[in-house]
Amino acid sequence: MKVKVISILEDNYMYLVIEEQSKQAVAVDPAVPHRLLEIVKREGLSLTAVLTTHHHWDHARGNEALVKEVPGLRVYGGDDRIGGLTDKVTNAQELKFNSINVRCLFTPCHTSGHMCYFVWEDECTDAPAVFTGDTLFIAGCGRFLEGTAEQMYHNLTQVLGSLPQDTKVFCGHEYTIKNLKFAMLVEPENEKVKEMLSWARARDDDDKPTVPSTLIEEFEYNPFLRLSEEGVQKFTGKTDPIEVLRVLRKEKDKFKKPKERPSPHAMLALEWGLLRP
Ligand SMILES: [Zn+2]
Repeated sequence: MKVKVISILEDNYMYLVIEEQSKQAVAVDPAVPHRLLEIVKREGLSLTAVLTTHHHWDHARGNEALVKEVPGLRVYGGDDRIGGLTDKVTNAQELKFNSINVRCLFTPCHTSGHMCYFVWEDECTDAPAVFTGDTLFIAGCGRFLEGTAEQMYHNLTQVLGSLPQDTKVFCGHEYTIKNLKFAMLVEPENEKVKEMLSWARARDDDDKPTVPSTLIEEFEYNPFLRLSEEGVQKFTGKTDPIEVLRVLRKEKDKFKKPKERPSPHAMLALEWGLLRP
């Protein structure tokens, strides 16, 4: 089973899961459809299905065009708001595309209909893969836009955290450096965070993706999976893991803001004394 990583838009990923013998392929979050079809054609693949993690435009906006251009294409997802949806899936539902197996994992919180997809191939020694959309990122987790800390806790610990530890993690965005800078603030003494940050910076210099990681690696540096660690509890001032997660996410939301450069407009306003710095 081969997974092709395709960087799109500003920092999104779309993926092709390829069964190498039959050249059949399943796409995940193909938000730039014509680019996807170019690759499908160039590599002599046939596209059989689309898996959509959630309805946000930067993940789902390619579906309608693909349905029009690829006869018989099935589009799977867990939310009626997903464009071009042909098959609504539910938790633990399994799909099969020749020897490629998919288990749908319902992970509501970032959006109320978010699905992750656990994928493996029959009689293949390759590690399985999980496509985590905007639920689990490398060294981070998604915003709680339509859900609660309780839900995200369940998603991270029960649903994703209990998958085989060698599972490869393919997430929806390249947020790794930003996430690791936050992880440094949370656990400044964690050597794994430091190592990972310098590795991610080197990847960035070479314009290479940081996906995939593995679950076992995530448990070493991703603060959102380290809720019982002393350092993470100390940073949040909480011990109950759900409360630790709630505070972590709030702090992460705040963390982004001072990093953003003010717009030229805001700079002018500052100069004129219209805004307080
Ligand atoms: Zn999203």
